[in-house]
Amino acid sequence: MVVFPCDLLPLDPTQDLIFPPELMRVALTEPQQTRWFRGERVAWVSPVSLEELVLLKSTHPQAPLVLGNTALGPEMKFRGAVHPLLISPSRVAPLFEVTHAPQGVWVGAGLSLTQVQMVLEARVEALPQEKTELYRALLHQLRALAGQQIRNVASLGGNIVSALPNSDLNPVLAAGGCRLRVASDGDREVPLDQDFFRGFRTTLLGAADVLVAVFVPETRPGEFVRAFRQAPRKENALATVTTGMRVVLGPGAVVRDVQLYYGGVGPCTLRAARTGQALLGRPWGEAMLQEAYSVLLEEVVLPPGAVGGKVGFRRSLTLSLLFKFYLEVQQALALMVRPGPGPAGSWTSWTCWVQDQLGPGPAGQSEQDAVGRPVMHRSAPAQATGEAVYVDDTPPPQGELFLALVTSTRPHASILRYCLSVCLSVCLSVCLSQQGSAGGSQTLPPPPPPPPQVSCVGQLVCGVLADSRDRARRGAAAVRVRYQDLPDPVFTVELVVHRPLSSGELRLGGQEHFYMEPQSVLVVPVGEETEFHVYVSSQAPTITQEAVAETLGVPSNRVTCHVKRLGGAFGGKVTKTSILAAITAVAAWKTGRAVRCVLERGEDMLITGARHPVLGRYQVGFMEDGRITAADLQYYANAGNTVDESPLVVEKMVLHMDNAYNIPNLRGRAVACRTNLPSNTAFRGFGVPQAAAVVESMITDVALCLARPIREVNMYRGLSVTHYGMRFDPENLWRCWEEVKGRVGLGPRLEALRSFNQDHRWRKRGAALIPIKYGVAFSEAFLNQAAALVHVYKDGSVLVSHGGAEMGQGIHTKMQQVVSRELGVPSSQVYVSETSTASVPNSCPSAASYGTDANGMAVRDACQKLYKRLEPIRTKNPKGSWDSWTRAAFLEKISLSATGFFRGPDCYMDWEKMEGQPYSYFTYGACYSEVELDCLTGDYRTLRTDIVVDVGQSINPSIDIGQVEGAFLQGLGLYTLEQLSFSPGGLLYSRGPSQYKIPAVCDVPLSFNVHLLPDSNNPHAIYSSKGIGEPVLFLGSSVFYAIKDAVSAARAESGLGGAFPLDSPATPERACLACATPFSQRVPVSEPGSFTPWALNI
Ligand SMILES: Cc1cc2nc3c(=O)[nH]c(=O)nc-3n(C[C@H](O)[C@H](O)[C@H](O)COP(=O)(O)OP(=O)(O)OC[C@H]3O[C@@H](n4cnc5c(N)ncnc54)[C@H](O)[C@@H]3O)c2cc1C
Repeated sequence: MVVFPCDLLPLDPTQDLIFPPELMRVALTEPQQTRWFRGERVAWVSPVSLEELVLLKSTHPQAPLVLGNTALGPEMKFRGAVHPLLISPSRVAPLFEVTHAPQGVWVGAGLSLTQVQMVLEARVEALPQEKTELYRALLHQLRALAGQQIRNVASLGGNIVSALPNSDLNPVLAAGGCRLRVASDGDREVPLDQDFFRGFRTTLLGAADVLVAVFVPETRPGEFVRAFRQAPRKENALATVTTGMRVVLGPGAVVRDVQLYYGGVGPCTLRAARTGQALLGRPWGEAMLQEAYSVLLEEVVLPPGAVGGKVGFRRSLTLSLLFKFYLEVQQALALMVRPGPGPAGSWTSWTCWVQDQLGPGPAGQSEQDAVGRPVMHRSAPAQATGEAVYVDDTPPPQGELFLALVTSTRPHASILRYCLSVCLSVCLSVCLSQQGSAGGSQTLPPPPPPPPQVSCVGQLVCGVLADSRDRARRGAAAVRVRYQDLPDPVFTVELVVHRPLSSGELRLGGQEHFYMEPQSVLVVPVGEETEFHVYVSSQAPTITQEAVAETLGVPSNRVTCHVKRLGGAFGGKVTKTSILAAITAVAAWKTGRAVRCVLERGEDMLITGARHPVLGRYQVGFMEDGRITAADLQYYANAGNTVDESPLVVEKMVLHMDNAYNIPNLRGRAVACRTNLPSNTAFRGFGVPQAAAVVESMITDVALCLARPIREVNMYRGLSVTHYGMRFDPENLWRCWEEVKGRVGLGPRLEALRSFNQDHRWRKRGAALIPIKYGVAFSEAFLNQAAALVHVYKDGSVLVSHGGAEMGQGIHTKMQQVVSRELGVPSSQVYVSETSTASVPNSCPSAASYGTDANGMAVRDACQKLYKRLEPIRTKNPKGSWDSWTRAAFLEKISLSATGFFRGPDCYMDWEKMEGQPYSYFTYGACYSEVELDCLTGDYRTLRTDIVVDVGQSINPSIDIGQVEGAFLQGLGLYTLEQLSFSPGGLLYSRGPSQYKIPAVCDVPLSFNVHLLPDSNNPHAIYSSKGIGEPVLFLGSSVFYAIKDAVSAARAESGLGGAFPLDSPATPERACLACATPFSQRVPVSEPGSFTPWALNI
């Protein structure tokens, strides 16, 4: 059927598009036939029968089958694999059949994992329990494997054939004795056993083989199958180690057969055959295990520098997971029922009880006045439906080019030359030098002057322009750069600071910003007078404007930056964005065309740096009663290869090295260390999360030494003075603290925790109550200012512009509320379109938790001017409506547009005298967290978190609670989950969500309670509110210290007391090894320096 565009009905945007019924009819009634689709580089064929599929495969053995595309797709997208032919077997019926046989079920290899899950669930429902051991073990893996979206498309056959070393299904299928039906020049059956796995991602299947179905057998009485997996996160994370284990017990529980398969401990799924042999013929009991452990340690060996790192942990897991298998079988033997669910609590108990705290609003407040009310984030519906517009949603202007970046692959080298020939065959061919001067044209350019040196992997070395994103990226991938390595790259701060170890230390890893929207910029030349419009995802539009103007050598008045909204920023979209915008602007200037530059997630992570990793060291003096009398703290921040904001970050560390404690003799020093890693930058909290964590670590060590809590005796009390001489009243800190204690019922809770720990050998609970005192505002006084522009139109609608950027924190919503109060209009009548340097010049970055404080005052100032101007009109017609007043004002020639300005506090810090008033005020909070730790695997679950924060009089409690919840979880990620990992050559390994885990829903505390401190006032900020963006992030450390508390309980079982080191993040690996269980202690430790580790310990 051929359809010509002129035959089509015009699109009616009010109607949902439906799949054309005619096409459905054609699909159902027309005879099925092979379909070919041919593209520029790839052909796609869809056969309809198994015979045809086999024929295609034998003719094109290298052509992959594409089912869910979850293994192939990433290879093509991220590793540049090109397959000229793809075969889609989605219409080949035998691959999707389920056939019940007497002793099991044949499951089509093409079925998605979700469909397999449904088949197995139905078998579990239908059969007696003893027959479904294998099915249940597979279901255990399937429920944790990837996420629902992946499981909905990824196929069973794809999982088996792609043979990931840590595939979750293969060890269980192999242990369970599954068989495969394979078609090529004939049908054959292949056992899925150790011989099936040949090496890294290779199996004994030939290139022309098609896996048709998998036989999954039922189990018999006396047969037990279990699966265990340990992953960096409970959901959507590939396993670190994963297992499938099966045992057949005869009379007297004697082992008649045993199959132990592991994933994640070698290049492919691995059978521990000798260990199984050691168990054969022995009664199922503790006695058999000791020998099995020794054999297992010899049999499953990982070299100390093995790919993936975590060698000690993985080896320890092989032992502890075998022990878990033993325990579960033992338990099943005793009870003949499956064990109950894991830790207590349920997902549904997660509560956010906004209404509770809100009430009807202050007595006498007009209904129109939106301040203090839980107004929904004004972009929420658009963001939830996908209608919200981000930079990369901007339609391409005529002739737009795309800029792709080429980055250094060396940590420290000179660039000898660029080889552009292949690149030029695919792209339009403009390259830019690192310094930003244009070096070429749309015709073949001379090679740009190379930057003399690179100082990190990921440093920008040139850019490639093309007329499409794909071509630009292919061109960039084709650029070859010849380097000459320079000596001695430095990656860790230890190599920068040679100092002896002092009495305690905490190493904190960095943190990737992981904003949802990567760095994005579109520069559009206006076409005259070197004027440019820059559409950019920046939290500092003015800094971006200045960077572009300075780079192009034009005045700022020719560059307008437009920021509609950001899909998150967290500090990462200030300096880095400006650099990218400047480079993109050079390309636009040179070509005279619009240029777009949007980073891929991996590029973004590689290039743009992160939160500073910090090594903190301390010496501490204390009294028997727990009072700390003196402390000396040293912070070494890994700044990376450029200065960026590092000096300011380390200054803030020193300012917060007291956290909430009054330490009479306090000395500190913070150093930003230059290394050959990508330059680190601002991140929510700006050094405070690192600084305060080191203090808490010191406090925890002292408490462990004295075996008693010591926080309260050291907290500031009464009118106080910080170590830099700032006066403050910690009353609200104490109110937060006491309220948390009261809400959780601290005494009985700790008692229950202690008794749980007495009853459990391998699971331990821990708790921590942590305070925060966080300084708000910029310590550089000039940044504490803001401006606004408010227009009122004749119809009464209000358009507000201010200097703050909306990055999810809800600043525009709060500004609407301010206008609503000041002008007496409903907030629905107020609109904030964008943040633009043309409407509000010289704005300061939205940072330091100061956005609402500053911009709110500026907006208020503008509104008050307008309201005053309307006074004669209002007096004339007091009963008139807002709309009638604005119409009348226009007729009376009264200006309905006003600017507002806020001159903020003159904060300062005199670093010579070491004293100052660097903040406007403090935001206080306290947080209790309780965790349950599985000491055998290091997995933990946050059972409960209670936070009380002093946000003054909240302008919008629902937004503030959202900020608190978000910041807490981001902190939880920092301290327990998120791990940047670098190769020994300084290459960031963790360049995407599969290697870098941010908290997911599964990490939200089972019971999560956020409370805003009532009756708090703050004379220093608008409507008595307080800044809340950053302070609570640090409270995520309560989970870290709760884990440390649980580890401490586990260590006590091994006879270990007192202080011990635990670095951040407290990943399962670190927590498990710190527990010092008999399993981890059995694993031999390789001598540091005797091997090259897979990853650096940054
Ligand atoms: C985000 C993410 C998370 C993941 N997490 C996990 C996890 O936690 N645990 C885990 O085990 N796995 C995980 N995976 C891997 C995933 O399970 C596999 O990628 C998936 O099962 C492969 O199936 P597919 O249909 O997508 O294969 P495709 O990508 O379509 O194909 C993969 C390969 O298998 C071959 N192939 C597919 N079917 C057949 C067949 N019938 N006969 C012969 N060859 C065939 C193809 O030729 C191709 O080479 C994850 C993947 C992603 C993307």
